[in-house]
Amino acid sequence: MPKRSVSMTVREHSEIPEPWQANILSDTSEDKKIADELGKLRSQVQIPYLKPLPKSLDDLKLYTLVLDLDETLIHFEAGKSDGGNEDEEGYYMIRPGCSKFLKDLSKLYEIVVFTAAMPDYADWILDQIDEPGYIAHRLYRQHCTPQEDYAIKDLRNLGRDLRRTLIVDNLAENFQETPENGIWVESWYDDLDDLVLPNLQAFLT
Ligand SMILES: [Mg+2]
Repeated sequence: MPKRSVSMTVREHSEIPEPWQANILSDTSEDKKIADELGKLRSQVQIPYLKPLPKSLDDLKLYTLVLDLDETLIHFEAGKSDGGNEDEEGYYMIRPGCSKFLKDLSKLYEIVVFTAAMPDYADWILDQIDEPGYIAHRLYRQHCTPQEDYAIKDLRNLGRDLRRTLIVDNLAENFQETPENGIWVESWYDDLDDLVLPNLQAFLT
């Protein structure tokens, strides 16, 4: 299992200060390391984030489905567990129906995961939950747009036709620039009877 750096502990929740704020509020070396890393990553971000759809797919009027990661597809717990996908710092659980959701919907949509987490944490999980590669693109914390107290996911930066783009997220703040494109889902932590993804799949199919 790949070794993750300190930034894996940076969660997406908007209540947590952004690293660039954390850097001002606190001068611990860990915060500074994350802020430095994020600054470097942000300087490499170009808008639009995604290359144009291949013409054949664009002609098919393919829709793009943008999915959040934490509490939408998975839930990460710090610390040890008795099983699951564990490493030395924590483990995560996969929301019921996730694998089928990705597999089936990747036939109908261009799937993009857009997380406010840092790449090392997100890639550690996505490499495992998406071994077959149903997710076409990954967007991370550096692609989020700082706005007031939040770092939001602004779909206008994607480079996709917004009339054919949807975002599924457990944080409605992410929809504020494009409210008509957002599908809010309840946060998932550990309920194994959760039916949100199967129900959403039926709705989107
Ligand atoms: Mg989330």
